[in-house]
Amino acid sequence: MADIFARRMGTVHRSFIREILKVTADPEIISFAGGLPNPELFPVAAMDKAAHEVFSTIGASALQYSTTEGDAGLRAIIARRYKENRGLDVDPDSILITTGSQQILDMVAKVFIDRGDKVVIERPGYLGAIQAFSLFEPEFVSVSLEPDGPDLAELEAAFRAGAKCFYSVPNFQNPSGVSYSLAKRQAVARLLDEYGVLFVEDDPYGELRFMGDDLPSIFSLRKNPGILCGSFSKIAAPGFRLGWLVADRAVLDKLVIAKQAADLHTSTVAQAIMRRYLETNDIEGHVALIRERYGSQREVMVEMIRRYFPPEVSIIEPEGGMFLWATMPRGASSMDLFDAAIKDKVAFVPGQPFHVDGTGDNTLRLNFSNSDAPRIEEGIRRLGRSIQTILK
Ligand code: PMP
Repeated sequence: MADIFARRMGTVHRSFIREILKVTADPEIISFAGGLPNPELFPVAAMDKAAHEVFSTIGASALQYSTTEGDAGLRAIIARRYKENRGLDVDPDSILITTGSQQILDMVAKVFIDRGDKVVIERPGYLGAIQAFSLFEPEFVSVSLEPDGPDLAELEAAFRAGAKCFYSVPNFQNPSGVSYSLAKRQAVARLLDEYGVLFVEDDPYGELRFMGDDLPSIFSLRKNPGILCGSFSKIAAPGFRLGWLVADRAVLDKLVIAKQAADLHTSTVAQAIMRRYLETNDIEGHVALIRERYGSQREVMVEMIRRYFPPEVSIIEPEGGMFLWATMPRGASSMDLFDAAIKDKVAFVPGQPFHVDGTGDNTLRLNFSNSDAPRIEEGIRRLGRSIQTILK
């Protein structure tokens, strides 16, 4: 049976997180394992209204095939929001609408990665990128992520050794919550230009900043080819599967070919409804509400960790996003902790799968976007108890 599959399938596994989510489906379990936005904040009524308006105004054309590049009005709104919210000048023609930002990772891999090419990623790194890239059989080179960004000496060594591309999540990274400092952003941009490395900046969480100042994207600081990825998943709703990328013409043209081959274009109806929603609602107010809610949930999680976790567990306090990263003393295993925690009816994601070099067994990812304050308090209390038992 095994030899009916392509060679590339040999090294890629089902997402560990999606497997874990099956175990944590028990309603008695307080789960910090998922990476889900809070559904209480989905704009259900506004989307319902937008959908009705789409069908009563543009009707059949919402159900027709459409261009690969995507809805022009939606691209104009994305460009305007970059300008107004992030101070970034983006030509709408340099935007390509995608089926979630996850699709971009698959397209990037198809367009740029030949077997054995060196792809640099953060350690820990986003599992969805590791999975998408793995299908194209790169050689991963991982670079340690410090609380203010990547280790620059390791990054330069990786670039010097002939890296093809660097995939990075500079704002409130999944899984670590780390955000790059301004100095590291500038240094990374310099290194990219010096060594001529393609840059893929994945930014689904950038608008969810609770504290500190918005920092420039590395995409805007570098001159060498780059791709900036955005998503509606965390600021509106993931079910639409709507993301976008920004890239120079030459790069965009190739990505368009990869997208045409994959799915022709992003769902016309999803784009039309999202556009209508954005045109007729206060999206900035909505994003502010998400920031406020997640920010206060993050406060509760940090406070409860201080109260209930043993002091030898260290954490990275995120300035935004949806995740908090914890590190137990060396030698402690978060896989062992996972079993103990499930018995205590609380769940999280063990950190090791986010490390392409197999390290990180003493780390864990905690999600704070999808639990309210009382559940966070109770869940962290339970998890603190589980940690005490395995550290004994
Ligand atoms: N990149 C990162 C870093 C993510 O955390 C996620 C969502 N888990 C994605 C990309 C994919 O998001 P989507 O496809 O919903 O836009």
